[in-house]
Amino acid sequence: MDDRIYDVVIIGGGPAGLTAAQYVARAGLKALVLDKSPHAGALAYASVIENYPGIKEPIKGKDLLDIFRQQAIGFGAEYLEAQVIGVSLQGDIKEIFTMNDTFKAKTVIIATGSMGRKPTIKGEAEFIGRGVSYCAICDGAFFKDLIVSVIGGSEEAVKEAQYLSRFAKVVYLISPNAIKTQINDINNIEVLEGFRVVSINGEDVVTSITIKDSQGKDKNLQTNGVFVYLQGSQPITDFLNEAVSLGERGCIKYNHSMQTSVEGVFCAGDVACNEVRQVVVACAQGCLAALSAEQYISRRRAKRSDWH
Ligand SMILES: Cc1cc2nc3c(=O)[nH]c(=O)nc-3n(C[C@H](O)[C@H](O)[C@H](O)COP(=O)(O)OP(=O)(O)OC[C@H]3O[C@@H](n4cnc5c(N)ncnc54)[C@H](O)[C@@H]3O)c2cc1C
Repeated sequence: MDDRIYDVVIIGGGPAGLTAAQYVARAGLKALVLDKSPHAGALAYASVIENYPGIKEPIKGKDLLDIFRQQAIGFGAEYLEAQVIGVSLQGDIKEIFTMNDTFKAKTVIIATGSMGRKPTIKGEAEFIGRGVSYCAICDGAFFKDLIVSVIGGSEEAVKEAQYLSRFAKVVYLISPNAIKTQINDINNIEVLEGFRVVSINGEDVVTSITIKDSQGKDKNLQTNGVFVYLQGSQPITDFLNEAVSLGERGCIKYNHSMQTSVEGVFCAGDVACNEVRQVVVACAQGCLAALSAEQYISRRRAKRSDWH
């Protein structure tokens, strides 16, 4: 357990979370950003951004994200690559759980975006916790000397496959498309491009998966673990375990200060119940959530604008 009490813990390091981090850090607050992966959010996926105000030339989403991150860290925010797996939000001091640590904070800003998905592969929901996982750092060590399959072709999927190769005997990296990310030369990773996963099979635990090639031919692969890194468009709120009120689409409800149904807990960006998903909106909401968190901590009546 990390005994320090942060003023603000920000969950998610996309444009919303990093803008919030920049504002709270500049206000002199002790801020920590917990980010699952700098490659996993919507902005990291955007090949080109040209409608964000202030940029003179089109810029890769990843490069814009790097600037946001450097700016937040430059102002004094801490940044840690870690997936949040649970929270306890009641009371004055909130707790945020990752696989290796518990962090305490006076306020929390949730900015996890909307690249999540519901289990869609046959057998996926049934075997969650019994072979199906979404977090290599959390569950990788359970598969020492066993066979695991990583599903997805993104940079995040490649990185997770590389991490799992330290434990597993064999790692299948299965992608429907050609994988564009450079994969380190690791003996026990076998790349299977052009395959879709049809079903995850087993009895008590996962024992195999069925994959289909582009010609429609099925193949069965013995596997003990299945790590799914496919992207969708669902707000990522599973780790909250309904600790804050959600709207119909699973997004987080908020008031005019970006506060959720829980005092001292704010949200920003695509995870919030917004009509528009754009970088500029995520940043604006990150700013508002940060100023609201600062106002909440200092018990001031009005928000304090940040200008020289
Ligand atoms: C392909 C594509 C193209 C786009 N093009 C444009 C465009 O041209 N212009 C524009 O304005 N907008 C564009 N958008 C939309 C824009 O990218 C999003 O609106 C914006 O990135 C939302 O920011 P966010 O911070 O809310 O979420 P994200 O950018 O999704 O960031 C969320 C962050 O939270 C982290 N996270 C998730 N779960 C956890 C967890 N459990 N623990 C810790 N961290 C977690 C992720 O790793 C990620 O870093 C595009 C989106 C996509 C997908």
